[in-house]
Amino acid sequence: MEDSLRLAGVVRESIVDGPGIRYTIFVQGCPHNCPGCHNPQTHDFAGGTDTPIQTVLDEIDASPFLKGVTFSGGEPFCQAAGLLPLAKALKARGKHLMAYTGYTFEELLSLNDSAVRPLLEQLDLLVDGRFIEAEKSLALKFRGSSNQRVLDVPASLQANAPVWAEAYR
Ligand code: SF4
Repeated sequence: MEDSLRLAGVVRESIVDGPGIRYTIFVQGCPHNCPGCHNPQTHDFAGGTDTPIQTVLDEIDASPFLKGVTFSGGEPFCQAAGLLPLAKALKARGKHLMAYTGYTFEELLSLNDSAVRPLLEQLDLLVDGRFIEAEKSLALKFRGSSNQRVLDVPASLQANAPVWAEAYR
């Protein structure tokens, strides 16, 4: 089991990365290279800082008012094995969990990484798909471009197909 994550940074109190006040974790490393990406400094897999999972957990525990935690990036599902124990620990604390990914839900299910599905099983919401500049809109809630979807993850896993979180459509 992984005990550290390669991180680009964190935001300790965010109201733009999901419902409620959240702690947002920006992982380092992304293979998608979406033109117009707002976080190009997170693409290099050799960049960022190795951060013990326990350090992140301690910091979240120090702010009990946080409703949830969001995994952003970078590409969180390139560090699924590291995020999985963190996600389990956060779920045990009753936190609402959300992740961003440049993969579609369908692509995630076909990845050859045994930690991906267990990580999905810990999540409440998933914003999926690459950022497409031509479909960018500032009116979208929690999304950058209209091709992306805000998915109800438990319902999507049960259906084995993407199911929208209707409150955010
Ligand atoms: S998936 Fe996200 S972090 Fe990666 S290139 Fe696309 S917009 Fe940037």
